[in-house]
Amino acid sequence: LEWLYSYMIRLRLPGGFLTSDQWIGVNDIAKDHSTGTIKITTRQTLQLHGILKSHLRPTIQSFNINHLDSIAACGDVNRNVTCTANPSESPLHQQTYELAGKISEMCLPKTKSYYDVWIDDELIIDRKTEEDPLYQDRYLPRKLKIGIAVPPNNDVDVFINDIALIAIIENNEIVGYNIAAGGGLGATHGNEATYARLASVLGFVDTEEKALKAVYEIITVQRDFGNRSDRKLSRLKYTIDKLGIDQYRAEVEKRTGFSFKPAREFKFEQRKDRYGWTQNHEGKWFYTVFVEHGRVLDTEDYPLKSGLLKIAQTAKVNFRFTCNQNLIISDINDQDKVLVENILQEYGISAYTENASALRKNSVACVALNTCSLALAEAQRYLPSLVTKIEPILEKHGLLEDDITIRMTGCPNGCGRSPNAEIGFVGTAYGKYNLHIGGDRLGLRLNTKFKENIGEEEILNTLDELFGIYIKQKLTEETFGDFSYRYLQTLN
Ligand code: SF4
Repeated sequence: LEWLYSYMIRLRLPGGFLTSDQWIGVNDIAKDHSTGTIKITTRQTLQLHGILKSHLRPTIQSFNINHLDSIAACGDVNRNVTCTANPSESPLHQQTYELAGKISEMCLPKTKSYYDVWIDDELIIDRKTEEDPLYQDRYLPRKLKIGIAVPPNNDVDVFINDIALIAIIENNEIVGYNIAAGGGLGATHGNEATYARLASVLGFVDTEEKALKAVYEIITVQRDFGNRSDRKLSRLKYTIDKLGIDQYRAEVEKRTGFSFKPAREFKFEQRKDRYGWTQNHEGKWFYTVFVEHGRVLDTEDYPLKSGLLKIAQTAKVNFRFTCNQNLIISDINDQDKVLVENILQEYGISAYTENASALRKNSVACVALNTCSLALAEAQRYLPSLVTKIEPILEKHGLLEDDITIRMTGCPNGCGRSPNAEIGFVGTAYGKYNLHIGGDRLGLRLNTKFKENIGEEEILNTLDELFGIYIKQKLTEETFGDFSYRYLQTLN
């Protein structure tokens, strides 16, 4: 008799894109093999939970039939490459989306074992003869994450990545990329040597070819210099801090054969998703659906999953995923907009998106309990109810329309990106969280631990007090995060 082990499978979706047929495929696979819930992750992809061991091969084979795979979606390799999600943000979006795909391909492990283990059960190539110039015989010391942002939107939270690319736009053209390295939000409770860090800008490159080369060699430096004796200290951020940014840059330049130019100016103006309808430069329509913590499922009151399936069955749309765990119904022709709009209304999707408070729409949570084995506390199952309790407090202080970012993770690994929220919760034990404040709204400054190991009552009392002080003392246009940062300085 076998143990009832169950697994999670995450897709590789660089730039977070599916056709409507692929969405229907994922919907069916979720129904046949998993808990049924489709989870949109903070890295712009999808994961399914509760897949029993005997269902693993059929699940992966079904993905394969839908031209989807989960190669390098986990492990000590480059993970899913993220990219500004909404094509209506910029006519240059397609270029960066394609770059995300090229980076993903470039960094795929070369082994074909995925196919012979999961798809055909036949050895496609003798493993002894397989060569992998990037990962060689040892892969990376830890996972590695790459993101591409198209200013003015930092919806990808670009600086949390091991490697961050920021498109530099002049006269409506991408003239190159600023490249940064060393981001990562994970830490370990009680281990002072671990910390969250935002990526440091190495410099600017003026062609896509150079951007690809720089990314590749940043990875080889991490492969060769990263810490392989302590997994807690093995992410690229620790290698950068150990070598120093100048030495890391010099090593990369030695390998690429060119020097980084000084970083170019850029400006982020927002980090949130643009909910509702937007139109791009080609006249195509996009509807960003608010999906609370990325959980696509049907409940008695809200048949989101059925509504999305019906929209996919029109075959008039594509699906895109955002790093804020939302979904964009995309690439809709003018003549099909009413059809999609009617389904959005019929299933209550547009009403749900429009009626959610600003705080709720700016909330992110990781899966945590009961599916993540590392979780110490709840996140996606608890944050919605906590937000419901915070909303009246915000209303009392006249802040209900304020776009405050709030994020919760069930442990300090940072999958829900709490360390760079204006209000961040990090689980410490069941029902207990560290409360962090002082992160900025655009993802350019990390927050700071303000209270340790507190439960719901103290969370609500503390926020009530902080919102009250904020309203009285804030400067004109000062966000809650910027105010909290200033407030924390006064306490020191
Ligand atoms: Fe990641 Fe920790 Fe959340 Fe699990 S509990 S998803 S490891 S942040």
